[in-house]
Amino acid sequence: MTDSIRILSIEDEADIRKFLRATLGANDMTVLEAETGREGLRLATSQTPDVILLDLGLPDMDGMEIIRHLREWTTTPIIVLSARGQERDKIEALELGADDYLTKPFAAGELIARIKVALRHASRPKGDAPFVYDYDGLTIDSAARRVRLDGEDVRLTPIEYRLLTVLARNSGKVLTYASLLKQVWDRHSPDNQTYLRIHTQHLREKLKDDALNPRFIVTEPGIGYRLNP
Ligand code: CA
Repeated sequence: MTDSIRILSIEDEADIRKFLRATLGANDMTVLEAETGREGLRLATSQTPDVILLDLGLPDMDGMEIIRHLREWTTTPIIVLSARGQERDKIEALELGADDYLTKPFAAGELIARIKVALRHASRPKGDAPFVYDYDGLTIDSAARRVRLDGEDVRLTPIEYRLLTVLARNSGKVLTYASLLKQVWDRHSPDNQTYLRIHTQHLREKLKDDALNPRFIVTEPGIGYRLNP
């Protein structure tokens, strides 16, 4: 267990801490625990964990404040654990630099899957390096600028292609509407989610994807989109 993954949990609820300890421990991960924001920031600095699980409602500090502090000096993935229905909080946390969020209560398998996605992204080269995405019949070869579905070429408009590749570079991670608008349209960002919705709808049609039962593009209500897996 010398190279085991180290997770810092900043969480004040004893029941959730117990659940995290059991779940992460069963997956060969080492858990560092902080019950307050201040202690969490101290452990983040002194222990350099691989992933940080952050509860937004802490007794001594606002979770947003903690994300702001952490993002001044570290790119360690932060997964926010938030209560149900706090869409605005989730968006704010993602925009401050959190990588993902889980809504309580969440299942052990979901937590482990999100941690794996976060670790995968943390180890991946940043920027516009060429990449290949290959999942459930959909392949994207960014160097060849080619998209295929079940062996057939898919013809996409430049905007659809850009939208798909931004999602694919971040596969498994939720992207907010604002972040997608910025990344897909660059400087000419139309400040309008309708554009995004229409292009996503066209993209789904071309990928024979069903919004209600998605194979590829998952809607995160009120937040944005996430590409499987
Ligand atoms: Ca709490």
